[in-house]
Amino acid sequence: MDNCIFCKIANNVDNPVYEDDKIVIIKDINPQAKIHYLVIPKKHFNDVNELSVNDPDLLSHIFKKISDLKNEIGFSDGFRIITNIGKNGRQSVKHVHFHLLGGEELLDKMG
Ligand code: AMP
Ligand code: ZN
Repeated sequence: MDNCIFCKIANNVDNPVYEDDKIVIIKDINPQAKIHYLVIPKKHFNDVNELSVNDPDLLSHIFKKISDLKNEIGFSDGFRIITNIGKNGRQSVKHVHFHLLGGEELLDKMG
């Protein structure tokens, strides 16, 4: 999709935390926890609702990879997965992505 920052990043990334033919994992530019990664699919969907309806296999791949990688990327003591959707969810980048937050004990408050 033209002019989508995450389409550009996901399909041409330097030093990703992880990359395969379907997704990349990168460090968030403005970390909200000691470790803050973003899981970004290479294919464009606006949000997780669109992704789950149109490509459930890709959604499943994303969650499988997170499970496979969690120890080696610093989340052996637990972590949080967040995906923001739309205006009330304060989604600022309209290309689906999953925040992975951890590396420390997170706050109870989530919203
Ligand atoms: P959201 O508000 O859920 O759409 O989150 C977008 C996230 O992308 C924010 O946490 C930003 O800090 C992050 N972000 C925006 N641009 C970049 C970039 N070029 N590289 C890494 N993270 C970015
Ligand atoms: Zn995109």
